[in-house]
Amino acid sequence: MARKNEGCAVGIDLGTTYSCVAVWQEQQGRVEIIHNDQGNNITPSFVAFNDKQRLIGDAAKNQAATNPENTVFDAKRLIGRKYSDPIVQKDKRLWPFKVIPGDGDKPMIVVNYKGQQKYLSAEEISSMVLSKMREIAETFQGKPVRNAVVTVPAHFNDSQRKATVDAGTIAGLNVMRIINEPTAAAIAYGFDKGIRSVGERNLLVFDLGGGTFDVSILTVKDKVFQVKVTAGNTHLGGEDIDNRMVEYFMEEIKRKYRVDINGNPRALRRLRTACERAKRTLSSTLTTNIEIDALFQGIDFCSSITRAKFDEINMRLFQECLETVDNCLNDAKMDKTSVHDIVLVGGSSRIPKVQQLLQDFFNGKDLCKSIHPDEAVAYGAAVQAASLCEDIQNIPDLVLLDVTPLSLGTYTTGDIMGVMIPRNTRIPVKKTEVYATVYDNQTCASVKVYEGERTKASNNNLLGLFSITFPPAPRGSPVLVCFVIDENGTLSVSAEDQTTGNKNQISITNSRERLSAEEMSRMIEEAKIYEAEDRKFLRKAKAMNSLHDYVYKMTNALKDKYTRSKLSLQQRLNISTAITKVTCLLDDDNHQVDVDVFEDYLKELESLFDQIFSIND
Ligand code: ADP
Ligand code: MG
Repeated sequence: MARKNEGCAVGIDLGTTYSCVAVWQEQQGRVEIIHNDQGNNITPSFVAFNDKQRLIGDAAKNQAATNPENTVFDAKRLIGRKYSDPIVQKDKRLWPFKVIPGDGDKPMIVVNYKGQQKYLSAEEISSMVLSKMREIAETFQGKPVRNAVVTVPAHFNDSQRKATVDAGTIAGLNVMRIINEPTAAAIAYGFDKGIRSVGERNLLVFDLGGGTFDVSILTVKDKVFQVKVTAGNTHLGGEDIDNRMVEYFMEEIKRKYRVDINGNPRALRRLRTACERAKRTLSSTLTTNIEIDALFQGIDFCSSITRAKFDEINMRLFQECLETVDNCLNDAKMDKTSVHDIVLVGGSSRIPKVQQLLQDFFNGKDLCKSIHPDEAVAYGAAVQAASLCEDIQNIPDLVLLDVTPLSLGTYTTGDIMGVMIPRNTRIPVKKTEVYATVYDNQTCASVKVYEGERTKASNNNLLGLFSITFPPAPRGSPVLVCFVIDENGTLSVSAEDQTTGNKNQISITNSRERLSAEEMSRMIEEAKIYEAEDRKFLRKAKAMNSLHDYVYKMTNALKDKYTRSKLSLQQRLNISTAITKVTCLLDDDNHQVDVDVFEDYLKELESLFDQIFSIND
């Protein structure tokens, strides 16, 4: 494999709830998981807006309860989907932020930023999270970071993958490769075990995260990682567990206080945060308390929950996970005894009941917990990123062999799904098929491309359609249809009239829910403006802070008898006047004051103070 990317490259796990960034350290020969400015290795995939600034990550999540309508999360659940998608409609009901249909049925998130309504696509929100991850990496590396490998769930379809690449581009990243999360986790596992000593092993990666659940079976041999099958549920994860807990406590509140907190976003957000915390605690203790002061209508809510109760209310979800594991083994035509290692990934895989059920399912086999469930995906992505870089020598060229998560095909007569590429086919792949025109003198054929497992084409997900024209010809004239999936898992389809050689390439890449070139360049420009505004805000906040500090220092100095004695009346007056002026300026809630004004004031004060003291010293 040619290594063509120069410079530093990172691996980014862009998660539904948390994201993580890692980099290969050439000198140490190991992967470094990069912590953020809060010292955390994972960063919430949250973006918030208010009348002053934009916040990303921990800062955004921390203020979610007080600004629920403008705090956006779960963008990954929206990315690459249409607004009318039943999943979007279902999710929308639970989100405190507003989602409306945009052009081409594209879901648009509505927020209020600096007093103005903004309409943002899921790609833009994800690009903001990605730019935060890039910034975290740049702070650590001390230099710009442009290249990245970004991971996606194995079940992500074509448009979700392309939208993720777009999000990276908007964030100013060169997305070298999109790889599947379970493959990345398997790489991390392979590295942990010492990649060459593994021999051929069958791995089952069990990834239960915040929003999604993925199971994949891979074989690992030396540096070849081959995904055999993958299965999953786009709507099963920690957030669903939190929802169950929220419902449980909402019932309790109804019973105890006869009030319904449903419909109060702030109370719901606070209850949800408390539930998530309680859930985490229950992974290590048998019982925990929930305490929320002034939750609703003056109620100080206080309650407790045991691990047994927690397991009971979530048992249906846990069992669904096991059913998916079973299906995955069936798809792979594998017996559970042939699985060598069961690798746990995703924050929710820490839940003891989940681990116990999984272990019981595999007849008591030990689960592999040696890799970090929150970091494994970013770890693997970083290894892959390094192996795609020109100037990194110290790393083997990995071979990642992936499969398609969904069957791909076309509409054929009678609304039958004509499968061209069955699911779990190894990629990259190219398949061609010759179709025949259905009537005499037909001059046009349309190709509708679908993905999904249903027999009726229209029950599957329409990815795009295009048509091809040709001169009138008798019925049965051959039209060649070609499906190509590249190593990123993205699809392109072409059709060719074999008689004339007329060709047409599907516009899946330009399908209506995909961003157009103009939209992309507008978003890239806007992303730069957002970043510039963030920088400006930070600069202003820092300048105001320094001024505050300085005023405090001067006020104290004036209070100090010894200092006072050394100052003339005029000097004391000058300082007092300056303090009053600055205090007024700082107290003024008018955000229009330019940052330069603050910085100039600070300089002025510093020179005034320094002057006085240098004279008196
Ligand atoms: P994603 O990749 O979907 O963003 P992660 O793998 O980061 O998700 O997992 C996040 C989920 O894991 C959250 O729902 C979080 O509440 C849950 N989680 C994290 N730690 C624990 C724990 N100790 N016990 C139970 N759940 C946990
Ligand atoms: Mg994840």
